[in-house]
Amino acid sequence: MFKLSPTILNVDELKQSLLKNDSVGAFVSFEGWVRNQNADKNVVALEYEAADSLCERETAEIINEAKAKFEVQEVLCCHRTGKVSVGEMSVWIGVTAVHRDAAFTACRFVVDELKRRVPIWKKEFYSDGTVVWLEGCNAQTGVPGTSRLTEANYYDRQIKMPWVGQHGQEKIKNARILVVGAGGLGCAALTSLAQMGVGTIGVCDHDVVAAENLHRQPLYRVADVSRLKAEIAAAQLEAINPFVKVNACAQKVDDKNIEELAAPYLVLLDCTDNFEAKFLLHDYAYKNRKVLVHASIYQAEGQLRVFDFSREQKGPCLRCLWPEVPPSGPSDALSQPAVLGPVPNILGHWQALESLKWILDLPDQLQQHTLVFNVFTNEVVKIKNKRNPDCPLCAEQ
Ligand SMILES: [Zn+2]
Repeated sequence: MFKLSPTILNVDELKQSLLKNDSVGAFVSFEGWVRNQNADKNVVALEYEAADSLCERETAEIINEAKAKFEVQEVLCCHRTGKVSVGEMSVWIGVTAVHRDAAFTACRFVVDELKRRVPIWKKEFYSDGTVVWLEGCNAQTGVPGTSRLTEANYYDRQIKMPWVGQHGQEKIKNARILVVGAGGLGCAALTSLAQMGVGTIGVCDHDVVAAENLHRQPLYRVADVSRLKAEIAAAQLEAINPFVKVNACAQKVDDKNIEELAAPYLVLLDCTDNFEAKFLLHDYAYKNRKVLVHASIYQAEGQLRVFDFSREQKGPCLRCLWPEVPPSGPSDALSQPAVLGPVPNILGHWQALESLKWILDLPDQLQQHTLVFNVFTNEVVKIKNKRNPDCPLCAEQ
């Protein structure tokens, strides 16, 4: 268990909460105290700032790892937040086990991993009146003065792009994008969207991670097999960028729930792998004036299309190309299992880029065209989509 505490730590209380179990044979604790010196400077106080949900998630991982590696019973970590004076305790870690060796080793493991991985930033106040932020997580360098994580430094290099800037970054932050399908296309698209700073991202996938997904779906690890993709992806994305909000939905999108699931989003990314879902998303986007970034792959080839129905409902649309949903089954090429990992990944990142171009209203967007690329021949072709005067969807507009 992990607790952040804005007040003085009560060691007796913490200890008693671990020692309720009669099977405890060993109890080991660590106490970190604020001392008056650091690198020849006289310290008078510290201030801790923590990313709460990330701290909880990362510490839960560390505790699970400790329980898997060593035969420990319970682990409790408590860390102060806010201003802490010299002579006060800033961190308390307690471990119980049947045997002392497991308790000692696990306690040392948790102390080290907590220091290395948990995002808590520390500000030191010195007797000469100066103040310096020290690195929290990734503290291996131990270099004082390195800055804590902020949106300004996270997006620094992107904001320097002339067509993004601070104003563009704000637009990206205000964007709401739903990604349907968290497979090879979705993992790549979601990662790019989160890293670019899309403020609200929805991820919808009813499936669980399978071993044969891992070669092309980089948000998942071996330990995630059999767990829900949407939930793992959401947690991973918020760890990649704590400044974005990710809403997980572990439902299969169908004609009954699509209204409710997609309503909060203006841009939809089709990262699905079957015709039925692709046409469902497309027709919903058309009827509800949404922007659809559509992608599909077949072996070494990928195709990308952007339909901006928020501005234009006169086509061409997907049903101009295929009036009816192609039959699934053996003739459905998308359901074939042969996939080369980089192909959906490239296309997924490209979907995110086209979304960005739409958010920033940049020139040369892909609307009304199909981009076809082949990774073996290195050919990229941009083809103008043709309007079908007999289209069952858009011809009547
Ligand atoms: Zn049409």
